This record gives sequence, C-alpha cells and structure tokens, in this order.
Amino acid sequence: MADALSFEKFYNIINNEKIDTGASYHGINPFTGEALWETPVATEKDVNSAVLAAHKAFKTWSLMPWEERSKLLKKFADGLEKYKDEISDLLGKESGKTFPNEAQWSVPEKVLKETADVRIVTQYPPVGVVAGITPWNYPFQLAILKIAPSLMTGCTIVLKPSPLTPYSALKIGEIAAQIFPPGVVQVLGGDDKLGPWITKHPGIAKVSFTGSIATGKMVMAAAAHSLKRVNLELGGNDAAIITEDFDIPKAAQLASIAAFLHSGQVCMGTKRIYVHESVHDEFMKHFILIVKNFKAGEGFISPIQNKMQYEKVKSIYQDCQKLGYDFVVGSGKIEDRAGGYYVEPAVILNPPEDSRIVQEEPFGPIVPVLTFGSDEEVISRVNDSAVGLGATVYCRDERRAWQLAGSLDTGSVWVNGGLKMDPVALFGAHKQSGIGGELGPLGLTYYTNTRTVTYWKESVKDETNGVKQNGETVALFA
Ligand code: NAD
Repeated sequence: MADALSFEKFYNIINNEKIDTGASYHGINPFTGEALWETPVATEKDVNSAVLAAHKAFKTWSLMPWEERSKLLKKFADGLEKYKDEISDLLGKESGKTFPNEAQWSVPEKVLKETADVRIVTQYPPVGVVAGITPWNYPFQLAILKIAPSLMTGCTIVLKPSPLTPYSALKIGEIAAQIFPPGVVQVLGGDDKLGPWITKHPGIAKVSFTGSIATGKMVMAAAAHSLKRVNLELGGNDAAIITEDFDIPKAAQLASIAAFLHSGQVCMGTKRIYVHESVHDEFMKHFILIVKNFKAGEGFISPIQNKMQYEKVKSIYQDCQKLGYDFVVGSGKIEDRAGGYYVEPAVILNPPEDSRIVQEEPFGPIVPVLTFGSDEEVISRVNDSAVGLGATVYCRDERRAWQLAGSLDTGSVWVNGGLKMDPVALFGAHKQSGIGGELGPLGLTYYTNTRTVTYWKESVKDETNGVKQNGETVALFA
C-alpha cells in the first residue's frame, strides 16, 4: 500500500488494508459547525480482525532488533513530515493543533547483581498487543504518544481515536501501513460501542488510555476482567502558584497563556491561580488587561470542540453567575452563536475554595484567581483535591521554589514557565489523574513486562546453588 494519500476519504486500517465497514458518520468542524468527511464505524468483527492481525504481527515485530524498529519509526516520522501540511489542515478542521517532538526510545536490560556466583538481570519484553484510546483535544499528538512507545518496545497496536476527531489518526494509520509490516499498526474509528469492545477483548494485553476520569474508571474495570495492564492519563485541576518575588507582569503573561491556550481544553493547562496576597492587586491589573484582549475564535481562543463540552462549560459559567461570583473579565453570559461553539474568556476573582469553578476541571476559557498568605497554606489548598496531574510554580527564590515543587501531590511541576512535555521525562499523575505515565525511559517500561533472570554461574553452581538431599541436588531459595 504505497499509493499517495487522499485527504478526502477515510478508512479504518487493519493488517495494512484499508477497510470500508459499510456504515459511516461524520465529524463537525468546531470553527464553523459544518459537517466534515464521512468516516467508518467499526464493527465487533473488525475489532476481532484487528486484534488477530496485531497478534500475528507481534510474533515477528517483537523479535526485531530495536535498531531496526527504530529505523522504521524514523521512516514513519518522515512519512508524517511529508504530509505535514495536509495533517495540520485536518487538525485545524477537527480541532486545531501543532506537532510533537521526535524521540528515541528503548528499554535496555538492567544488571542488578553481578558476583562470582550469580548474575541477576531484569529484562523488559514487550507486553503484547496494546490498545491505544485517545480523546478529542489532541488527536494527533496523543495518537503518536501511543504508537511510538508501543512500537519501539516491540508491541503492536490497535488505536482508537475519539469519534469526535477521527480524521488525523486514520491518516496516521494509512501512513503507518506504507511503512510497517502488516498488523503492526491498526487504527479503528467507530461509535460508542467500539471502546468497550476493545477494552474487554481478551487478546489485548494493555490499554493505554487518555481521557476523562469517569471513562478511565470504566476502562480499568473492563481491563480487570483479564488483568490487562492499564495506563490511565486522565483529567486534572492544575494550579499555578505565584509568589511575591516573581516578576509580576511576566507571571500574568505566562499564567494567561497556560490558562487560556486552546480555550482551556488542555489537560495540563492552568485551571486555578493562587497569587500571594501582597502582589495580588498588581497581578490582577496585568492579568485583566491581557485577558480582556482575548477574543473567542481569535488566536488561541479556539471554539469549544463539541456540543457536550460546550454545555458543560456553559453550566460552569451559569453556576458562577447564579452564585454571584465576581466576573472581573467576561459577563458570565454565553450567547449561542451560529456556526461554532464560541465562549468569551472569563476570570473569576476569589470564589469560595469549594466552588465548582475551583474544584472542577471546566475545560473552557474560564479561570479563578485566588489569594494566599503563606506557602504552607497554599500547598494545603492545592493538594486538597482528588486529582493531581500537574502544577506550576512562579517563584524566583530557588530554594523556596524547590520546596514548593517538592510539596505538591502532582505528576509534574513546572517552575517559572515552560509548561510542556519533554520526551526525556515521564508525564505521570497522582491520585485520580491517572496510573502509570508516558514518555521518558520510565514511560517505556509501562509498555513492557519485566522478566528477572537469575543466572547461576557454572563454576560455582554445585557448591552454592544446591543442597544435597538423599543424594539429589535440589534448588535452593536464596
Ligand atoms: P472521554 O473519556 O469522554 O473519551 C476518551 C476516549 O475514550 C474516546 O476515544 C472515547 O470514545 C473513549 N471511550 C468512551 N467510553 C469508553 C468506554 N466505556 N470504554 C473505552 N473507551 C471509551 O474523554 P474526552 O472528553 O474525549 O477528553 C477530555 C478528557 O481527557 C479531559 O478530562 C482531559 O483532562 C483528559 N485528557 C487527559 C490527558 C492526560 O494526558 N492526562 C490528555 C488529554 C486529555
């Protein structure tokens, strides 16, 4: 399958074949509300074929030396690069995004003990067929974040994008089919039945899931049936802490981007801002000025991607308005606009700590700003949450910054900006924000099993590794 790609037709990919399932549906362009292209709905039979193909491919793919797999992944990256403009256009139409970094991954075995008698080694064999399930907010990057570590560790994959944004992932599948052996990468689009079919399938060894906490719990329950491994990358409620010694106009600039990028539809975006009381007025002066210039549908204030999310964001605005919270930017009213789901940005000043806007992840362009008096107090308020994805600390005093960072119950802490993932570092989570993590050497190990090999050296075997019982040598538990 080495033909040029059409960006007008979409297929599921099984065993490097384009599969037309007969049934189809279409996504919606969130900028205009217009229908996008028809796209296939997978059946349960398709899931079985995809898992079977991935199983067959696993037998040879997992034995391929990682240098060769790595070469193919590089070719795959080049293949994606070739269609960069077309994929960017697709992403714009289904949600609007940028490109990921490349990375090199492998999990070398570890020698844990080496003495005259024994060598103990941990090996990391691939776990098997992985199911990758992704949400609608970063359809390209998150698909790559599932495919690359699966393939690098020797796993094969069945990828399921969100039904709201299937397009770029299906094209990734077609590009992968031009490069990898059949069965290594499957991509299935479908309806709400597809996820449960995949997570209950006994042929899947691991589910790498990114999405909401509620669905993550269902995925884990379904995986329990055959004790599948799970990686859960779920929602968060990331806080930013701004101390009084930081450059306040700069803090306002950085925090405004972290909170409003992609209209707040970013899992690691800032969802609540805590400012030291002594610099609060100065911060608000700058922050309000910046956010007042943000306009729905312009720059990074994109439309809300889908109707369900739009209704959720609306209900948070209405809750703040009904309870009389202080809208220092925005009015709290959301007027339905023809075309896309546009929401004007809003800033809420000092709502109660137990309000929905402080406790929930709105996933929309609205953020509360709160004040704090001491580091101890702000740490306790930030940590008093059922979730713990990430946090940001803006603090010039290095010792204090490390102390703050080290006290937060979150998988990531960014200090003084740079709120992004780095391929060398695990992106993990605490509490209900998830289990496991992605990226970095540790992230790769989540796509493997471990195998401990204890090798008794021949020369000393009889004396050290056995005891005589009735003249027979038997194993000794050391
Ligand atoms: P979602 O949970 O509704 O859907 C995610 C995926 O799960 C979709 O592909 C969906 O079709 C599938 N799915 C739905 N029900 C399923 C089931 N029963 N079994 C298996 N799969 C099922 O999430 P969403 O609304 O698409 O995404 C938004 C959420 O994702 C937010 O909470 C956000 O914080 C989170 N998110 C987290 C990260 C992270 O890395 N932690 C990154 C991006 C988004």
